Amino acid sequence: MHTNIIEQKGMINMKTPFIDKAKAEEIAAQFPTPFHVYDEKGIRQRARDLNNAFSWNKGYREYFAVKATPNPFILKILKEEGCGVDCSSLTELMLSDCCGFSGEDIMFSSNVTPKEDYLKARELGAFINLDDFTHIEFLDKLCGIPENICCRYNPGGSFAIESQIMDTPGEAKYGFTEEQLFEGFRILKEKGAKHFGIHAFLASNTVSNAYYPQLARILFDLAVRLHKEVGVDIKFVNLSGGVGIGYRPDDEQNDIFAIGEGVRQAFEEIMVPAGLGNAAIFTELGRYMLAPFGHLVTKCIHQKHIYKEYIGVDATACDLMRPAMYGAYHHITVLGKENEPCDHKYDVTGSLCENNDKFAIDRMLPEINIGDILAIHDSGAHGYAMGYNYNGRLRHAEILLHEDGTFDMIRRAETPKDYFATFDFCDILDKYTK
Ligand SMILES: *Cc1c(COP(=O)(O)O)cnc(C)c1O
Repeated sequence: MHTNIIEQKGMINMKTPFIDKAKAEEIAAQFPTPFHVYDEKGIRQRARDLNNAFSWNKGYREYFAVKATPNPFILKILKEEGCGVDCSSLTELMLSDCCGFSGEDIMFSSNVTPKEDYLKARELGAFINLDDFTHIEFLDKLCGIPENICCRYNPGGSFAIESQIMDTPGEAKYGFTEEQLFEGFRILKEKGAKHFGIHAFLASNTVSNAYYPQLARILFDLAVRLHKEVGVDIKFVNLSGGVGIGYRPDDEQNDIFAIGEGVRQAFEEIMVPAGLGNAAIFTELGRYMLAPFGHLVTKCIHQKHIYKEYIGVDATACDLMRPAMYGAYHHITVLGKENEPCDHKYDVTGSLCENNDKFAIDRMLPEINIGDILAIHDSGAHGYAMGYNYNGRLRHAEILLHEDGTFDMIRRAETPKDYFATFDFCDILDKYTK
């Protein structure tokens, strides 16, 4: 009886992988596990839904947060869907440049910004989003103040939605205080800036349709006051990232149309009456755009029976860091066993010499055999991107699954030569670098 209820609940809220066992085996025959696979169809549909949800705003644009999935083939898909890019470093700017993004296609939202990063952003004509008051002078001395400029706002204190604290901006390193923002806009205007943007990122991975509308109210109020008191043209309001996804099967998922409508209402109430109805809404979503459309695909290579039951897989925290770093839940499907009962309790682990290298702890799964292929869900954002080489582990390939079921490699796997490449200035490792 009890199991029945769980099974039923599981059926309603099941997380279904976008590949089946046959497809995973077909890919693995060419590109051995572990690999990341991305669902092109899902990515395009999500971009279209987002653009539709904000189509009421003339200048609306999503600037995809490159750091979430810094792959040129993914960026090109998003470009075709009308998105720009949000960069925060020199190499992200270089990558975006090579993918054909330029000028107002690029939002440069960095912090603790090195000189060369600002110079590249300026060269590409990107929107520059200043993180701090002192960066006004830093940028001015370096390369002058551009006509378009944006500043990041930090309201301090804590940020609550319906009296539930979502995050504490007062503890965050980002942004200008309100006083600095007013003073900063005055100075920027004096220095020749003509069109202004404001930006804030107050809570991460929110699963609430109220986050963006509430953030929008804060920024719209601020925009109206800046417009009146400093007399600046407000060109855009950048709601940044933070719209999340439900990682657990029974988590709520955001409704992007409800979110777009909530922002529209705030815009009509606050911006339009103040004469700011022409301002554009920008977003810089990363996780929401990509996370559900990536799976880390890995094979069971060992089983261990000690005080607990362990499933050893060929991926490690180097391939997906979130569980080890944040204790984050990532759903796991044993491919080909989607309909079998989850009656075995396992820890699913990688091979790092770190006990936190576990993709799941005490997870109820179907019986797993050596050779079974596991799909780890929701790894399309902040997955490969946060990868690293600890324990000499090599980074895996990325595969793009097209709408017609064909697939292409969009990043090759590393080889030992890549791992040793930074020793190519000396001869010690010639055996492996030459
Ligand atoms: C990380 C980041 C984003 C994207 O955040 P998500 O939570 O992935 O949507 C957007 N803007 C800035 C400035 C960021 O640092």
